[in-house]
Amino acid sequence: MNKGVLFVLSGPSGVGKGTVKAKLFEEFEKCLVFSVSATTRKPREGEVDGREYFFIDRDSFERKIREDAFLEHAEFAGNLYGTPREAVNAQLLAGRDVLLEIEVQGALQVMQSMPDCVSLFILPPSFEVLEQRLRGRGTESDEVIERRLEQARRELPMADRYMYQLVNDTISGTYEKLREIYLKHSKVVHQVYGI
Ligand code: 5GP
Repeated sequence: MNKGVLFVLSGPSGVGKGTVKAKLFEEFEKCLVFSVSATTRKPREGEVDGREYFFIDRDSFERKIREDAFLEHAEFAGNLYGTPREAVNAQLLAGRDVLLEIEVQGALQVMQSMPDCVSLFILPPSFEVLEQRLRGRGTESDEVIERRLEQARRELPMADRYMYQLVNDTISGTYEKLREIYLKHSKVVHQVYGI
């Protein structure tokens, strides 16, 4: 049995990462798993503890940092986010690919500590398009949107540190590229799906 491969996906909020990622999980559900992160952010409406995130308080998060329980962790827009190390390793050893959807500082830590990972950055066609999409989503207050745009300004120049850069012009086009990259690097998908 081959080991799974670790995929790291980043891109600014509102760029469409969530949509293409969901399609990939749907198509390859037998061999690709999502790593559920821990965060100190409050759940949004509809989010379920243990599904989108493990929602924990700052004290618990800091204790986990001290216990070295995170593969990476970072602060983003005032909240802490971290990837549980054991869960990821267990999945990879069991022959499942793991996809992390994380922000740039965390992704750079993973590229250092797990140099075999495959890293992808999704870019918006332009900053204006990103702003429109973020405002149109209607899930966040103006203040939160401003913070996320500010964050995007800092993150976009980091795209070239990733192995792949995908410009999200259309969801279907971006998905095709993401799928192709997944099929190219996964060592288990061909066995599992016979493709
Ligand atoms: P949101 O609050 O919108 O769910 O996520 C905010 C940002 O945190 C997104 O860029 C998301 O990819 C990132 N993120 C989610 N989980 C993690 C994690 O475990 N580690 C890091 N470094 N970033 C994360």
